[in-house]
This record gives sequence, structure tokens and C-alpha cells, in this order.
Amino acid sequence: MQKFSDLGLAPAIAKALEKAGYDTPTPVQGEAVPAAIAGRDLLVSAQTGSGKTAAFLLPALTRVSERSKGAGNGPRVLVLTPTRELAQQVEKNALVYGEELRWLRTVTLVGGASFGFQTRALSRPVDIIVATPGRLMDHMRSGRIDFSRLEMLILDEADRMLDMGFIEDIETIVAATPSERQTLLFSATLDGIVGKMAERMTRDPQRIEIERKEESGNIEEHLLYADDNNHKQRLLDAILKEANFDQAVVFTATKIGSEEIADKLSDMGYSAACLHGDMPQSWRNRTLNDLRRGRIKILVATDVAARGIDVPGIGLVVNYDLPKQAEDYVHRIGRTGRAGRSGVAITIAESREFHRVRRIEQYLKRQLTEAVIQGLEPTRRPPKGRPAGKGGPRRSNGGGYGDRKPGGGYGGNRGGYGDRNRSSSGPRQGGSGDRRPRSE
Ligand code: AMP
Repeated sequence: MQKFSDLGLAPAIAKALEKAGYDTPTPVQGEAVPAAIAGRDLLVSAQTGSGKTAAFLLPALTRVSERSKGAGNGPRVLVLTPTRELAQQVEKNALVYGEELRWLRTVTLVGGASFGFQTRALSRPVDIIVATPGRLMDHMRSGRIDFSRLEMLILDEADRMLDMGFIEDIETIVAATPSERQTLLFSATLDGIVGKMAERMTRDPQRIEIERKEESGNIEEHLLYADDNNHKQRLLDAILKEANFDQAVVFTATKIGSEEIADKLSDMGYSAACLHGDMPQSWRNRTLNDLRRGRIKILVATDVAARGIDVPGIGLVVNYDLPKQAEDYVHRIGRTGRAGRSGVAITIAESREFHRVRRIEQYLKRQLTEAVIQGLEPTRRPPKGRPAGKGGPRRSNGGGYGDRKPGGGYGGNRGGYGDRNRSSSGPRQGGSGDRRPRSE
């Protein structure tokens, strides 16, 4: 088995890792760290939860541990991330892994935070800037960023940055950096536009592709069909009552939906809060801190706001609404099962949304296991021909989740889930009467 001492890290960083309790590199770290330390450009497809943050921070810190050859105050490493939360998480990790580098200075440049504070921080020498593209561009326009001694450019969750419309900003930022820089690009996928952009901004890159399935190996997934929104709410109530978890994240498709559900859960006595992009940054930070400290038990969030949440106590993710994009499914469920723990991810879909479920399954290259909660079975079934749960030919994917038998419930709770094919109950009452349109 590979050890951190085999990867060529600076001794100070190896020491900090030991203190942080890391003993074995994850697969992405095992491949990316030595290649990056050797100076290669990298294109890495790895998911959140794979240890990808350390995979780029460890080589970056190893570089920073040696004196800069360049003059000036500008950053030696620039990390671009799609969201504020992820940027803050990256900086936090850099400070943990770089704890022994006493002189290390990091600055996070994200929207929603004070310009004055960031400007002051930029007036002193900085080693690592972690930024979202929009705010970094604001500082660049004001002439506050000197990239002349930049050695390493890192793009984290590049696919997500493109989804969020940052392509032009990214191109402008990259063009402003020295051409002899080293570039590391991390993305859930390296296909399509991301792949093309990645090729343009790297030189003879080494491609590292980490199997998607591996990372969610400790996350137990279930799919529940619902008739309508009212049914979804009852399913959510049952899940929260029955599941064993310290903390949970419930994902909604809309900001208003996240507020409504958080309100309802608070009314029911849960310590619940919402997190979405329209909330002021200070409030978002407070909510995340409360989640980290365990003061919030259930966070109800939209996709963008929840990126980068890394709280080991999250044992349950509920997709109350389906993600708009298949990749988001992976990011959502990656909020649980952190740091090697196990987690449960339950996706609720309306029966008429079966085609969206299928898109997710195609992306995952595996099927989600359909389950039911006893007494809350759906009356409407997805059309025949949907492969999952039909007993039809399964794609062979090397023994992934598609083969897992549901029915065992999660953690020995009462009833739990049963395989829908084994459920004998007939149609339930009250299905269509309370049907109302969903707002997406
Ligand atoms: P990431 O994929 O970067 O979001 O990391 C997922 C989680 O795994 C974070 O909580 C990290 O602190 C943790 N982690 C990363 N690398 C290791 C490692 N080699 N050993 C133990 N935990 C790790």
C-alpha cells in the first residue's frame, strides 16, 4: 500500500498530514501528487469525497515550502473554485496541511465578503489565493493582482465553473497568468467543453481518471417514487423519523422550496435551516458554522450553495427534488460518507420523472435501487420498460449498487424500506386529490 512518505512531499507537509490523522493516500492522491510534484500538468477526473482537494493542495504546498524565485507580492499558487463555500473549504484545508509552514499566507477572494478586507490582504505577500472567478476578476480589473510570480494554477470543479457560466472569466484569468506556469485541472468529467478548455490551457498533460463508483462505495443509495408533492412531504417525514443520522442535508430544486421545507421542519421541532444563493454571505457562513458545530441538524439546501460542505456528521442526504443535472447527483450524495464514514442517500422522484432518473443512472453507469416505505407506496408506477427494479437485464458494472438488495432498511429501523416488487399493498387512497403542480 502506498504511503504519504512515498509521494515526495516536503517533510513539513508530511508532518502536518500525520497530525491531521491521514495515513494512506487516496487513489487520486496516490496518482496526482507525485506527478504534480514532478512538474506535470494534470487533467484529473475525480469526484468530491475522493480526497481531490489534498491531491492538488499537497503538491501546491510542497512548492510553496521552498522559497520563491520571483520578486513581488503576488500569489505563487492560484486555486479557482466555482463557489464561495468551496473556496473557503479549500483554504481551510490548505491551512491544515500547511500548518507547519509558519510563513504561509493564504487569501480567499469570494463574492459577498468585504472588498476592503480582501484589498488589505492583497497588499502583503501572499502564497496561495483561493478565489471564485467573478470576484478575482473584480480585483484584477482594479489592478490589485500581480501574477508575475505565479507558479501553479489549479482549477477545481472545472465542469461546475463552466456550468455556472464562468468560461470567459476563466479564459481571461488564465491568459493573465505566466505561460510557463504548471496547471492542474480537476473536474467530475473531462468530456465535452471542459475537455476542450482543459487541452487549451495545459501542456502535455497527464490524464488521471478515478473511477466514479469507488468514491461512493460507502454510501448506501435508495430511490423512492412518489405520486405528488404531498406524497413527497410524507416520505420526507418518514425518512427523517426512521433514519439513523446525526445530521442531514435535504436538497431542493428551488430557493423558495428550501425555505419552505426548512420552515416546515423547524415547525416540526427539528433544528433546521436553509442555505441558498440569495442569502447574504454572512448568513450563509453563519449557517455553515452552525452546521459544523452541530447546532443545525438538518440543512435544506440548493445545489450551488451546498458545494464544498464537508461535515463528517452528515449521515443522510435526501434529494427531495431531483437534481437538474445528473452530475449534481454525485455532488449531492457526496455530502455524506465524508472522511471514510458511511452514509445514506435517498432520492425522491415523482413517478412522471422516471426519465430524469434514467438520465442520472446513465451518467452513473449503474442503476439506483428502488425501494418503498411501507404504508407510503406510490400508486403511480413509472412506465414499464424502466430497467431498474424490473428484474430485466442489468448492466454489468462489476457489482455496484445496482445489485444491492434493498429491504434491509437503513440501520435496523422500524419497517424501513422494502423492495417495491415485494410490496403487496394495493393503491393507496388520496393520491390524485392532493396533486398540485411542482414549482421548479
Ligand atoms: P475531498 O474529496 O477533497 O472533498 O475530501 C473528502 C474528505 O476526505 C475530506 O474530509 C478530507 O479531509 C478527507 N481526506 C482527504 N484525503 C484523506 C486521506 N488521505 N486520509 C483520510 N482522509 C482524507
